This record gives sequence, C-alpha cells and structure tokens, in this order.
Amino acid sequence: MTSPSPHPDSASTVRLTVDLGALADNWRTMRDLSGSARCGAAVKADGYGTGADQAAPRLLREGCRDFFVADATEGARLRPALPGARIYVLNGVFEGSFAQTLSHDMIPVINSTEQAAFWLAHAASRPYALQVDTGMNRLGLTPEQAVAHSQSDAPQPCLVMSHFACADDPDHPLNAGQIKTFQGLADCFPDIEASLANSGGIHLGARAHHQLTRPGIALYGGEAVNGVANRMLPVVTAEARVLVLRHAQAGQSVSYGAAHRLTRDSRIAVCGVGYADGFHRSGSGAGVPLRASVAEGAMGAINGVRVPVLGKITMDLTMFDVTDLPEGSVQAGDWIELMGPTIDVEEAATAAGTISYEMLTSLGRRYERHYRG
Ligand SMILES: *Cc1c(COP(=O)(O)O)cnc(C)c1O
Repeated sequence: MTSPSPHPDSASTVRLTVDLGALADNWRTMRDLSGSARCGAAVKADGYGTGADQAAPRLLREGCRDFFVADATEGARLRPALPGARIYVLNGVFEGSFAQTLSHDMIPVINSTEQAAFWLAHAASRPYALQVDTGMNRLGLTPEQAVAHSQSDAPQPCLVMSHFACADDPDHPLNAGQIKTFQGLADCFPDIEASLANSGGIHLGARAHHQLTRPGIALYGGEAVNGVANRMLPVVTAEARVLVLRHAQAGQSVSYGAAHRLTRDSRIAVCGVGYADGFHRSGSGAGVPLRASVAEGAMGAINGVRVPVLGKITMDLTMFDVTDLPEGSVQAGDWIELMGPTIDVEEAATAAGTISYEMLTSLGRRYERHYRG
C-alpha cells in the first residue's frame, strides 16, 4: 500500500487521513438500505472521532438533512456548517443547555417526563423529539408515559424515537420485542414521524425503518452487525512514524516489564504512537491480561505487510517486529498503518478488547489530520 498522503515535512509522529468520499459512499449505502425512510446521520463525539466539522457538511452535501449530536455544545458548533438541517440533541435539555438549544435552532430529544415538563414550560411552541425507552433502560419515557403524553393536550413532538439495545445481533429476541413495542407507540402518534434504527437496526429490514434512520458507526467504516464481514469502506487511516530501527538478539526482552522475550535475532521498528493516542495498551503483544484470551495483539502494516506489536505498548511509543520484512525496506521516517485499508478498524478493536466505536472516539489529540474526498 502506498501512503494515502505523504507529508514528509510533517512534524508529527502520528497522522490521520479521513476519506470523506468513503464516508459519503457509506452514507449512500445506508440510505439505500433504509428503503423509503429518510437517512440521517449520528455525528456525535466529533463524528466518531473523524472530525464533525468536516464530516457533517460532507454528509449535508450528499443530501443528509437530519443530524444527531450528543449535547447542545456539539450541535451549536456544527450549526453554522449545517444551514437548514435538523440537529437533534440526543441527551435532551436541561437548564444550562436551554439557551444554546434555542439560539442554535436545535431539536432536543426529550428523555424523561421532567425534561418534557421543562421544555413545554419554556418553549412549548418549538419542535422537540420524544424518546421512548423500549428495552434499554437508558434514555426515554416509559411506553406508558409516552402513551399518556400522546393523549394529553400538550403540543406534540415532531419525532418519536427509540433505540435498539442489540441491533448488532440480528437473532437477539429483544429486537423483535422492541420493534413491536415501538410500532404500538408509533401508532399512538399518528402523523408524527418515527425513528428507531441505528446502523445495525437498518439491517433488520423495513419493520425497523419507519420514516427516519440514524446510522452512525457504519458511516465511519465500522461493522454494524456482529459476525458479518464488514462491507463498509474504511474511512479512517491512522499511521505512526518509524522513529528508530534497532537490532536485538535472541534472549533479550522488549519494553516494560520485559514481558516479551525474543526467540530470534530481530529487527525492531520503534514507532511514535502509544496509548495516549488511543492505541490502547490492552493491545500490547505481551504482558497484559487480554493476551490470555485473545492470543494476537495489535498489528501494524508497512506497505501492506502486517507486523506484530512486540511487548507492551507505552504512552508515546510502540515497538513492532519487522524482522520478516526485507532489510532496508523500512526506514526511520516511514509510516506504519495502525488501522485503515490493511488493518480493519474492527480488527484493531478486537486486538485491544474493545469495539470500533471506542477505537475511533479515543484517537487522541496528537494526530495531524488530513482530509480528502
Ligand atoms: C449513537 C446513536 C445512534 C447511532 O448508532 P450506531 O450504532 O453508531 O449506528 C443512533 N441513535 C442513538 C440514540 C444513538 O445514541
């Protein structure tokens, strides 16, 4: 693989390339899978770490008009880049966020009877979404509270929504239960739009689509359904610079705790990335508890060839075993891929005992960011 964007003069030891063209492609895939429903986008947590300032307007250009953020601060920041779009604030509204929600023309997702009373007391004429908890015990009115709300003479919401607990597991019985409960609720709010499906939910078919879908992870290249080959295009490429190449002898150890002992004379690429960059320590090649259950630690890739992490990942530095690469094919200053076209974000996540969502949202501040497409 050739580097996605060579920047030989960069002062940084980590860089991130975000392919907005792939993001747009992934959104069109989810839009088409959404059937007759409108397809929105979850752009919370800075667009799952990709940079919402770039990602959200790119999706707007593609035709997306419904954006979901976690809190009012995220939404206010994006508002100028999303003229005319609906911005829903998933965490709802409270006194401190009320003025910002109004002034940036955002739609709070009302998640409790208290939030409903607050909004209706202060902004009864402004649109709001109503969330109902259908099986997650996270946010939302109970179904009974929602039915009572639908029968009250309060101004009604512009959107009724709920969220799947197990959409990544299509066979989980809770999915059918949530779909059934939500359909009953949607029927109590006739002529009001309904929304249930996240990325995984979109794959559950038309009965989960209603009028609006809310994909997140799939847009950013993550796998939406467990055990199904990831068919989304990779959006994020994370790379680290090789700082030093060193030789070490069989019998010597590598990194803290001497947790990895070399079984052969080795060439080691010392690279400028560590757990402070979200290259999680749990992905270490040895010396961490996870290696007892998931044998293989994190990998890097150089010119498309995979090379394993040796020993413990440290705060700012990680050692990779490049012994099997031709002598001279790796040099100080070169870049090693940590996730991207060769190492799928899901593979990187599994090696660290986590999920693609957490890999992307913990990428850290040191990355020099490049956008294309
Ligand atoms: C994050 C989130 C989404 C998007 O979920 P993905 O699994 O990333 O597709 C949709 N709806 C709600 C309420 C969310 O919190």
